[in-house]
Amino acid sequence: MTDIKSMTPAELKELMLSVGEKPFRARQIYEWLHQHLAVSYDEMSNLPKSLKQKLADWPVTALEIMDVQVSKIDSTRKYLFRLSDGNMIESVLMKYHHGNSVCISSQAGCRMGCRFCASTIGGLARNLLPSEMLDQIYRIQADTGERVSNVVVMGSGEPLDNYDNLLRFIHILTEEGGLHISQRNLTVSTCGIVPRMYELADEKLQMTLAVSLHAPNDKKRKQLMPIANKYSMEELLDACRYYFEKTGRRITFEYSLVAGVNDSREDALELAGRLKGLNCHVNLIPVNPVRERSFVRSARKAVENFKINLEKCGINGTIRREMGSDIDGACGQLRKRYMEKTESEK
Ligand code: SAH
Repeated sequence: MTDIKSMTPAELKELMLSVGEKPFRARQIYEWLHQHLAVSYDEMSNLPKSLKQKLADWPVTALEIMDVQVSKIDSTRKYLFRLSDGNMIESVLMKYHHGNSVCISSQAGCRMGCRFCASTIGGLARNLLPSEMLDQIYRIQADTGERVSNVVVMGSGEPLDNYDNLLRFIHILTEEGGLHISQRNLTVSTCGIVPRMYELADEKLQMTLAVSLHAPNDKKRKQLMPIANKYSMEELLDACRYYFEKTGRRITFEYSLVAGVNDSREDALELAGRLKGLNCHVNLIPVNPVRERSFVRSARKAVENFKINLEKCGINGTIRREMGSDIDGACGQLRKRYMEKTESEK
């Protein structure tokens, strides 16, 4: 591997030994990259020139900020980043009273095909490297000068479809020597790739797993999410139970409400029945209309009633507070608009 920002401390140590350097250099470089958020070797003032020259084959890459949109309502900031190969990704900074939270992308594009989601319209361009996931957080922290305390992997892409890079990202993000963000302040959201959920559970991490459910049964789920053709809801919920058994972490279910599709009283009661006995929490999100799709968001009243109906059956629900509604295209829309613009300029 030549991507130095994706290397673990142990791998960096090995690299130092292989180029004839002392192991302590590894710690210095690691701290420059993951604590001081350096974007080049030039900044690494305590490294000898000779070492910097040796490292020419292991370049430091950094994301380039192409655009930042700032909400006038709540200071939410939406970033468009350019990867070193020209691909574009999006990330969002949300400011809460408990700290700054960054929502990152795990892939450029996505191949999961969820019907209401803009990220998937152009398909998957490629997986992000661990360094590219980390750098979304690093560049935002450097841009604002404010510490990021929470990370959610809920931007474009399916994190469990980029599993090995995701795990490496989690370790570098949460272990000592880097930003050292607590695993408890990390959430990873999946559309439900069941075998990977079992693998992740066995890692026994203390992060929150969010699972995109969006429907109370297989029939409705298949209309919204192609992944439902591969794994049934029962298989998915079994994997959620296993995750809780192994980690002790309560599952968060994501449920986007689409008017007339999944937001009725019957839907709420059926969902509550399915989730009974599972230690979980349901996040209700009125669907964000995407230009290319005809889905309509549920009325405020329908969202509130849905929550009340869940709670009557003993299932906790929260209506997701909307952030940055004035700059919000739904996930993936900023990237998409940018790509359309550059396409038409060719
Ligand atoms: N692939 C992962 C994470 C990315 S999407 C997953 O499926 O969970 C993050 C969340 O936003 C998911 O719950 C997804 O279903 C939801 N989402 C995507 N587009 C949306 C839209 N237009 N309106 C509301 N929620 C949306």
